[in-house]
Amino acid sequence: MFKEFLEVAQEEINTIKQENQTLDEEEHRITTRLDEISKIRSEFVIDNNSLNAYISACPSNRYTCPICFIRIGTSIEMKPIPGDNDTDIFKCSHCSSFIEVKA
Ligand SMILES: [Zn+2]
Repeated sequence: MFKEFLEVAQEEINTIKQENQTLDEEEHRITTRLDEISKIRSEFVIDNNSLNAYISACPSNRYTCPICFIRIGTSIEMKPIPGDNDTDIFKCSHCSSFIEVKA
C-alpha cells in the first residue's frame, strides 16, 4: 500500500475525531441549556385560574404586584407614589416594576 494512502486515511481519522470533539462540546452546551430552560419553565406555572388567583391576591385598597405574583407567586404590595394631577405611579419594592394609574 502506498504510504500516501495511509497518510490520507490517518488525516481523515484525525479530522473526524476533531469533528466529534466539536459535536460533543456542542451537545454538552445544548444539553446544559435545555436543563436551564426546563428549570425556568418549571418555575413559571400559569393556568386558566392565574388571573382569578391574582385578583384574589388584591384585597380592597391593596395592590399586589402583578409581575411578582404571576412570575413567582409572591404577593408584594405596590406603594403609590404621587405623580402629577392625572396619574399615580405604583412601584414594586421587589422587582422595581412601575404601573402608572390615571386618576
Ligand atoms: Zn414586583
